[in-house]
This record gives sequence, structure tokens and C-alpha cells, in this order.
Amino acid sequence: MPLDDIKSRIAKAEEKAGRAPGSVQLIAVSKVQPNERVAAVLEQGHRCFGENKVQEAAGKWPDFRAQFPGVDLHLIGPLQTNKARQAMELFDSIHSVDRPKLAKTLARLAQELGKCPDLFVQVNTGEEPQKAGVLPAEADAFIAECRELDLPVRGLMCIPPVDEEASLHFALLAKIAARNGLDGLSMGMSSDFEKAIALGATHVRVGSAIFGERSY
Ligand SMILES: *Cc1c(COP(=O)(O)O)cnc(C)c1O
Repeated sequence: MPLDDIKSRIAKAEEKAGRAPGSVQLIAVSKVQPNERVAAVLEQGHRCFGENKVQEAAGKWPDFRAQFPGVDLHLIGPLQTNKARQAMELFDSIHSVDRPKLAKTLARLAQELGKCPDLFVQVNTGEEPQKAGVLPAEADAFIAECRELDLPVRGLMCIPPVDEEASLHFALLAKIAARNGLDGLSMGMSSDFEKAIALGATHVRVGSAIFGERSY
């Protein structure tokens, strides 16, 4: 589905939810996609992209950035502490802050580098053992810990379980964000971004609906 169609679906969902036009940021998730497809979306003027692996992003985004000024790059996949420095140098936002050790490493590096990407705390709303993110019951304490470390926490992120109604997870994430005074909500993917917008998403992460299926 072309980029313009996704953008107009977002605009319609904003309107339907009574939200300001442009209040939802579209993160085009370019992981695994061939460079030609990514370049085509850049050429249409889109600048906000998401990648889930530091290494993969490092291989393509420095060149794209040089070619297309104004790129806004988001890390949406798990981050190992030994890649934190590289991630902080490469990304404008990190959506996968999910444990004290990583928070402490980011805080130390922020001091050293004199800058820090915008951060989102990932919440494992479905409490799935294989999935990253803090548990809902631990979210408030972890957000407080990040704030004590002076980290720029802008919001929360979740990936709902595949076999459950996503809206329940979006509503839970919105509730945790509201009681912690956070505005940012990174939620919604190709199959459910309109539902996420209805429940307050500020950042939707849409991959296959823009670029086509990923072939691994
Ligand atoms: C791949 C990915 C997406 C995009 O998924 P689509 O279903 O292709 O839109 C969104 N969020 C995260 C965290 C991802 O890893």
C-alpha cells in the first residue's frame, strides 16, 4: 500500500478520534527491506523511519542520512548494553528501554556524549516470557528510576501478543502513561494502527503495509 494511502488512513483515524491533524507520527519500519524500497519512500519526502537492529541500521542509515537531510531514526527493537553507545550515536529515539542495567548505561553514556535520544520505556503488556519490556506492575517504579537518572523519557511502547485483542493492550499502555504523566505512546503496527490512534497513539510503527512483506 503506497505511503500516501497510509498517511490518509492516519489522518482519518486522527479525525475520527477527535485528535489534532498531524498529532500522530508515522514511523516507517524499514527493517529487512531492500534499499531501493527505502530510497523510494525517502524520495517521496518521508523522513521518519524505524529499525529493530543496531547493526542493520548502522549498515544503511549513515549513507541515507548523507543523501536525505532531516532523517529521524527510531530504534524499535531490543537493545543490548554493549551496543548502547552505537545506538545513541545512530538513533534519534530509542523505544526499547526496559531494564535498570540498560537505563544506567544510557545515563552514563548521555553524560559522556552530552546528548541522549528521546526514550520510550517498553512495557510487556501481555506479560509474555519471550518478550522484552518491563511488566505492567513494575512500570511505575522503572519510569521513576529512569527519571532519577535524568533520562529523557518521552513515553511508553508496547507490542501486543499476536493472538489477543490489541485494543486492550493499547488501553493498558495509555493508562500507565497517563498516571505517570507521559504523553508519548508508541503503539500500533500495520494491522492495528487505527485502533492504536483511537486509544491515543502518538507514534505508529508501520512496516509491511508501506513496504510490502519482508522476505527474510
Ligand atoms: C517489525 C516491527 C513493526 C512493524 O510491523 P508491521 O507489521 O510490518 O507493520 C512494528 N514494531 C516493531 C517493534 C517491529 O519489530
